[in-house]
Amino acid sequence: MFRHLTGAAIVAALLTTPACAADKRLEARARAIHSKVITIDTHVDIPADFSTDAYDMMRPGPRFQQVHLPTMMTGGMDAPFIVVFVGQGPRTTSGYARALSDAFVKFAAIHKLTEEIYPEQIELALTAADVRRIHTAGKKVALIGIENGYPMGKDIRLLDQFYDYGGRYLGLVHNGHNDLADSAQPNKEKNEPVAEWNGLSPLGKQAVKRLNARGIMVDVSHASNQATLDMLAVSAAPIIASHSGVKSVFNHHRNLSDEALEGFKRNGGVAQMVAFDSYLKAVPPEKTAAIAALAKQMNIQGFGDILKLSGDQARAYDARMAEIDERWPKAGVKELVDHIDYAVKKMGIDHVGISSDFNGGGGIHGWSNAGETFNVTLELVKRGYTEEQIAKIWGGNLLRVMEQVERIAASQKDDPKNTRQKP
Ligand SMILES: [Zn+2]
Repeated sequence: MFRHLTGAAIVAALLTTPACAADKRLEARARAIHSKVITIDTHVDIPADFSTDAYDMMRPGPRFQQVHLPTMMTGGMDAPFIVVFVGQGPRTTSGYARALSDAFVKFAAIHKLTEEIYPEQIELALTAADVRRIHTAGKKVALIGIENGYPMGKDIRLLDQFYDYGGRYLGLVHNGHNDLADSAQPNKEKNEPVAEWNGLSPLGKQAVKRLNARGIMVDVSHASNQATLDMLAVSAAPIIASHSGVKSVFNHHRNLSDEALEGFKRNGGVAQMVAFDSYLKAVPPEKTAAIAALAKQMNIQGFGDILKLSGDQARAYDARMAEIDERWPKAGVKELVDHIDYAVKKMGIDHVGISSDFNGGGGIHGWSNAGETFNVTLELVKRGYTEEQIAKIWGGNLLRVMEQVERIAASQKDDPKNTRQKP
């Protein structure tokens, strides 16, 4: 059969053909697994104009919009937590009011998506059972997470409203400390100290208890290490990290310490490893400098300014960023799965999950939008994870935590000592 081939070609054919066949078998197995499991991505951001013509979930395309229904279908992303995020602002009455208003704009946009615009394609899940039911019915699933407790200011009764609007996890703090907890990343421009509360504030501890009583998962992502350990200590229910990496693989403020991972294992929670370049591996200083120089040249102060660019300016910025990314490549799916591997070794298969942080700075080589979600499963299969293990990592673990949180809230509701209706 090799009569017409040269010696070198015969060797190459003998070496590559079986490998290619093995690759194809592996990919086919990964595809079969990917289509069977429920893939839950616990962190997808949205802008304030979500569910308007500016961000239509059926029309993929515009820059920095990484999740749409058609790409979720082709990529096999089943159930994103769509995030009500409000950045930390002034801790004043008017600051809280503005933040609460911004939060409700996002809650409303998600309800508009699932109830008014595309109810046939995507449905809001309020329980773990809903997730399974909607998935079985062949629709995409939307869940709501809340990033930053700032919009409720000091009035934790607002958690009840967040629950009623469908919020099923809440991260107490974002970048910069707030009334509830210390942030992993204090606001340097405001000269914030490393710690304001040395973990959770007294109000933050009450908030965790109220989250437990309502049935909202407590999320430690963006909290300081001590605040994370405090949440683990105070929470009566398993908790989550909705989008974090692990410090032992790459030492970043936003990543989870080994002590926190051990806490998650004891607590029964789940840490969702995030596809965020700068948390997965070191960004070369030259790349950081090149991005800073570009930002200065184009008068960009923050992510919001990048979103506002249009026309030639947007094209110029995107082209320069593409050049920078080509010269110093982003982390890829392999680095993401390195974090998953470590977390699994440290805590066991029952406490690890996956998140993208799409539309919020997330996205890596190989998983840069919802359409590429399969690549994560492929890498997990390559690393030797079984279907049962992948089902847990992709959503089974998160659903288990959600169910436990629901059960604990229900049992507290039956308890006459519970203060459900009182402030
Ligand atoms: Zn975040």
